Amino acid sequence: MSDSAVDAKPEVKQASKEAKESENVAEKYSALTVSRTSDLSLQGELSAVPTHKPVKKQIQFVEDKQEFSRFPTKAGRRSLSRSISQSSTDSYSSAASYTDSSDDETSPRDKTQVNSKGSTDFCVKNIKRAEFGRREIEIAEQDMSALISLRKRAQGEKPLAGAKIVGCTHITAQTAVLIETLVALGAQCRWTACNIYSTQNEVAAALTETGVAVFAWKGESEDDFWWCIDRCISTEGWQPNMILDDGGDLTHWVYKKYPNVFKQIRGIVEESVTGVHRLYQLSKAGKLCVPAMNVNDSVTKQKFDNLYCCRESILDGLKRTTDVMFGGKQVVVCGYGEVGKGCCAALKALGAIVYVTEIDPICALQACMDGFRVLKLNEVIRQVDVTITCTGNKNVVTREQLDRMKNGSIVCNMGHSNTEIDVASLRTPELTWERVRSQVDHVIWPDGKRVILLAEGRLLNLSCSTVPTFVLSITATTQALALIELYNAPEGRYKQDVYLLPKKMDEYVASLHLATFDAHLTELSDEQAKYLGLNKNGPFKPNYYRY
Ligand code: NAD
Repeated sequence: MSDSAVDAKPEVKQASKEAKESENVAEKYSALTVSRTSDLSLQGELSAVPTHKPVKKQIQFVEDKQEFSRFPTKAGRRSLSRSISQSSTDSYSSAASYTDSSDDETSPRDKTQVNSKGSTDFCVKNIKRAEFGRREIEIAEQDMSALISLRKRAQGEKPLAGAKIVGCTHITAQTAVLIETLVALGAQCRWTACNIYSTQNEVAAALTETGVAVFAWKGESEDDFWWCIDRCISTEGWQPNMILDDGGDLTHWVYKKYPNVFKQIRGIVEESVTGVHRLYQLSKAGKLCVPAMNVNDSVTKQKFDNLYCCRESILDGLKRTTDVMFGGKQVVVCGYGEVGKGCCAALKALGAIVYVTEIDPICALQACMDGFRVLKLNEVIRQVDVTITCTGNKNVVTREQLDRMKNGSIVCNMGHSNTEIDVASLRTPELTWERVRSQVDHVIWPDGKRVILLAEGRLLNLSCSTVPTFVLSITATTQALALIELYNAPEGRYKQDVYLLPKKMDEYVASLHLATFDAHLTELSDEQAKYLGLNKNGPFKPNYYRY
């Protein structure tokens, strides 16, 4: 936790600027060819995937001493209102679970549980809730048809046969669909949660019933969090050869505690801004010892998850917490990047009067041309009803500005982690905090003015709403393909560096999802393909194309 990699401030732009995409990756990549939606056949194409011989090396644990206490006392367990690390709140592709139905206060670590196959190699809240979790997974599957179709098309080929994937992501119904897809494609999986709040306990139980070793429950302490990660990696007779991470905590733990594991790791797939930033730092320092795939900056993640996920979830988060009506309300959105654009579009559609603040003239001009008034925060702070931060920056809303907000103003954050609003400055003796609902605090000034602070300045949608399953399907499909690509890549295709997903695979992910909309792509004629200098099967855009 105090390690510099863990404390590193993620910088999305730096990460993407430095993203290194091998010129030859897409060309050399023969496993998946993007075909038209009418002919999306992965089968056969996957047979071209070269297979590696399994590496049979024993994990050498550098240190057997665990850094967590094996049986922490309840008092020792930390408050759940604080995140484990920045990264534990830095993932947007999975919604928090609101299905915690058990009153059982006993820590899962203090329980002995056995699944129906007789295995005790897991630690979840209550294995008996598996059936309920299965229903949750089935509901998620209905809106993840592209991922399911990838599963169906590739499961004959088993492109992940021999893969031993250790994963650290949100454990929700949607992630379960991804994990079960990986298993169907031949992988063995052990899984832990990247966030102490977001585990759907029933889903974790359902996964455990099918043989996935899950170590996660909703409401873990910090100690539990690292214990679960450790239990996923450190087990007799099972050595991971792939990492799927969301936030970089798992990767960090392997570096710190089990560096020898990297001898058999073929690659890391990382989803979040923070995790990707850490990987670039490792790469810069010459310490990255395996290839890594930056899924965060793939087009099918960034242009869909960041934009559409926020467009779909901002209103849900605000309404669930405050019951606010938006028509005619004045809202200021700080930052007009992907997230800001999504939020503004949703707010505008409900009739809100939306102001934008920006530091970048290009994004500011986009906001102007989309019909928003671009102003400095200080110019509107007194009059707005809602303030939303979406910058990925820090101290965008200061105490001084909070002091100037009008009575009843709502303030919340959609950017990563809890740095954008200076919440710490509100913890002073003259201000009273009143918890009015879960994730809703009224901060009361001496004159009686109240500011409504949501999720203590953490990601609003992750903390207070769900996010759309369909968007998660896009990200999950991207993750699955990144794992297939890294696992099957021939020696030398990927070096010890951070790569973007090949463009063709990005296009393939999009193709798979078009079927849901019964969208029919136009095919290039030979003449047109020649004229544009394109292959009829893609890629259709150069790497520098911005979409
Ligand atoms: P982005 O870089 O596209 O946009 C951020 C914008 O904020 C940029 O245009 C930048 O110029 C502007 N900005 C920076 N500092 C500012 C300041 N002080 N005042 C006004 N504007 C400022 O990034 P993005 O993809 O929009 O992501 C924004 C944040 O949201 C990131 O932290 C990202 O990790 C997070 N994110 C959240 C979700 C979610 O579901 N809530 C999803 C994806 C990403």
